Amino acid sequence: MRMERLTWEEFEMAKAKASAILLPVGSVEAHGKHLPLGTDVFAPLEIARRVEKKLKDKGIEILIAPPIWYGHSFVLNVYPGTINVRADSLRRYVRDVMSEFAEEGFKKIILLNGHGGNVYPLIEASEEVAESYDVGIILINWWMDFRKEILEICSSQGHAGEDETSVMLAIAPELVKMEKAKGEKRSTPVRVIRRDVGLELFPDGVNDNPQGATREKGEKILEVVSDKIAKILEGML
Ligand SMILES: [Zn+2]
Repeated sequence: MRMERLTWEEFEMAKAKASAILLPVGSVEAHGKHLPLGTDVFAPLEIARRVEKKLKDKGIEILIAPPIWYGHSFVLNVYPGTINVRADSLRRYVRDVMSEFAEEGFKKIILLNGHGGNVYPLIEASEEVAESYDVGIILINWWMDFRKEILEICSSQGHAGEDETSVMLAIAPELVKMEKAKGEKRSTPVRVIRRDVGLELFPDGVNDNPQGATREKGEKILEVVSDKIAKILEGML
């Protein structure tokens, strides 16, 4: 159930039945010339939808909260359409949102993250909330936690790369411009922090070769990942 569709009375009822609330977190940022800016929210939202259904089949209800759209995206801020929120702002914002869920009485909060730059702010926000409330927070970074499974389906993994492009082809093919999908893996031996480092590390906002992406691969990734998550949550909720 999507929280934003409920009235407060319906929310009260849904809350009583739900074992946890799931909060998708993403980013609004450049994903090459071929993927939409909202890719990092579209993916966790779709995974959340599938996880919710799988858990429901097992008799477990979860509530899906409205997503946090804007994330921490320093490196890709060199491209138009990337709306970067400082790590500290994101940490405080997510901490406040999760504190509200704890105040509402949720004992379990699932953070389903779709974006790399969010990982540390989310850990810090979670630690702060866990210090103040009797609540358990489960942080899932789906493309990292299930890398092994994803690499059994795709030949590589990367920003706007084969895996992410495949996933978007499965979710919203009308938003993917495959004729513009190109790129390569780039890295530096040590981490370099410079305002325009994204131009070198993520040319056109890509860091992987997306050309092998297909809708079938995306469908497989979404199924495998949501299945894994549902099974893990089944043992925790
Ligand atoms: Zn992404």
